Amino acid sequence: MEHLYCLRCNRELEAGHKSVAVYMFAQTVGIRPRQKSAAKRICFCPQCSVSLAMGPPPEGALNVAAWQMIRELVGSDPALNQAAWENLRGVIGLLPSNETDGNLRPTGTAGYFEF
Ligand SMILES: [Zn+2]
Repeated sequence: MEHLYCLRCNRELEAGHKSVAVYMFAQTVGIRPRQKSAAKRICFCPQCSVSLAMGPPPEGALNVAAWQMIRELVGSDPALNQAAWENLRGVIGLLPSNETDGNLRPTGTAGYFEF
């Protein structure tokens, strides 16, 4: 069992949990023998994926490439937004309720964030 952590917030992502994985490997081209590095798996939790996608482009060509891919995923289907929203609701549910309860939930019915 491999333990995966969100690259951005370091939250542990248990097996089967919703997340975004970025796979990366390097390989020589036009050089014999061809060499290939081990593939690396980079994970982001749904909240960080949505947050990154909604945010400004990061610095660095590789970071921008990954950012564009995550934006594509977040923008193509609301399922990832929904997963982030569900996780956030789960965290809110764990907080002790007090007399000012009621203002913590996101307004509206759609699972979209405004960061
Ligand atoms: Zn995260």
